[in-house]
Amino acid sequence: MTRKVSIFGATGSVGQSTLDLIRRDRDAYDVVALTANSELDSLAALARETGAKVAVIGQERLYGALKEALAGTGIEAAAGEQALVDVAGAGADWTMAAIVGCAGLRPTMAALKAGGTVALANKESLVSAGGLMMAAAGVAGTTLLPVDSEHNAIFQCLAGSRLEDVARITLTASGGPFRTRSRAEMANITPAQAVAHPNWSMGAKISVDSATMMNKGLELIEAAHLFPVGLDRIEILVHPQSVIHSMVEYRDRSTLAQLGSPDMRIPIAHALAWPQRIATPCLPLDLARIGRLDFEAPDEDRFPALRLTREAAAAGGAVPAILNAANEVAVAAFLSGAIGFLDIAMIVEEVLTRYSAPMPSTIDDVLAADAGARAMAGDVMERLTV
Ligand code: NAD
Ligand code: MG
Repeated sequence: MTRKVSIFGATGSVGQSTLDLIRRDRDAYDVVALTANSELDSLAALARETGAKVAVIGQERLYGALKEALAGTGIEAAAGEQALVDVAGAGADWTMAAIVGCAGLRPTMAALKAGGTVALANKESLVSAGGLMMAAAGVAGTTLLPVDSEHNAIFQCLAGSRLEDVARITLTASGGPFRTRSRAEMANITPAQAVAHPNWSMGAKISVDSATMMNKGLELIEAAHLFPVGLDRIEILVHPQSVIHSMVEYRDRSTLAQLGSPDMRIPIAHALAWPQRIATPCLPLDLARIGRLDFEAPDEDRFPALRLTREAAAAGGAVPAILNAANEVAVAAFLSGAIGFLDIAMIVEEVLTRYSAPMPSTIDDVLAADAGARAMAGDVMERLTV
C-alpha cells in the first residue's frame, strides 16, 4: 500500500533527509505536499521530481515565480502562511513537520488536527505550545512520532511501557562544538565556528542552539510534553560521541538505551515506517572502532541556556514561548554578525526578566506572547549594540 506523505520544510536538512529515504523506495510513497519558505528553485525541483500534488512557498511574493516554475506539470502552486495551514488538510496520512522555529506552529498544529500520523521535528512549536499541541493531537486521534533523535530514542526505549513505571529519562547531549571551552574562550566565537557541529550535520539555527546548549534545553521542554513523567525525572547527560541517543530507566532499575550512528535518517526512518522498520543507507554502529563512550555532567555555568530552559519549563505558561522567541531573535542576530555568541543567552535571560504574558489558552495567545518577546528582544539588542 502506498503511503500519502507531506513534508513541511522539504528544502531543509530534515526535509532533505526525509526525501532521501522516500527516493530509495519511490513506489511506496505518494507525495501530496512539499513546502518551503523561500527556496523557490529547490522546492520546484523537488515537487517535479516527486510528482507532488501541491507545492507551497511561505513567502507570498514568490507565488508567481513558483507558478511559473511548475507550469505544465499539473502541480498546484500555493503561497503564504494560510496556504501552509490549508495544505495540512490535503489528505496526507503521514506528515513530516520540519519547518524551523515558531513559524512552524500554525502549520504543525493544522497537521496535528488533521489526524493521521505526524512526525515531529519542529521542536520550537512544541516548546511554545506543547500543552495545546498535545491536547489537539489527543482530540484528533493523531499519532505523534518524535523525530528529534533523543525523543525518538526515548520513544523507542519506552516501547509501549507505562509512564508510571519510568524512574528517569536521560537526554544525552553531545555538548556541541564548545564543550570544553571556557566562557572567556567563547566570547569571540564566529557564526562559522558555531555552525560546525562535531557529530551532526543540521540547519544553521539548530546548530547554533547546539553550540549554546539551548538545543538541549529546548529538548528538555519538548520531552516534558511528549513524555509527561515530571521535570524532576528528566535529566541531561553530556555524551560527546552521540552514540547513545537517550535512555529510559524503569523503577526496577533496568535502563534501556537506543544507539546508532549520528544520522537523522535513522530516527526519520523509524517515524516513516513505524510500527514496522525499513532499511536505511546509514552506517552500522561500529562500537569496536568507536572504542569508548564518555559521559560528563552538564555545566550550567558555562552554558546558562541549560538553567534558563529548566526554569522556563518549571514556570510553564507563556514562559517557554517567550524563551523560544527571544532565542530565535538572538540566534538570527548572532548569525548575521550583529551580536556575540555569549550575548545569545544573555538576551534570552534579559527578555525573560522583563517580559511576561498571560497563560495562553489558544494558539493566538501563544503567538501574541511570541511577538511580544520578539519585540522585547529587539529592544534589548538595540541597547546592547549602541
Ligand atoms: P533548516 O533550516 O535546514 O530547514 C528549515 C525548513 O523550514 C526549510 O525547508 C525552510 O524553507 C522552512 N522554513 C523556514 N522558515 C520558514 C517559515 N517562516 N515559513 C515556512 N517555512 C519555513 O532546518 P532543519 O535543521 O531541517 O530543522 C528543522 C526542524 O527540525 C527544527 O525545528 C529543528 O530544531 C528540528 N531538528 C532538526 C535536526 C537536524 O538534524 N537538522 C535534528 C533534530 C531536530
Ligand atoms: Mg536532538
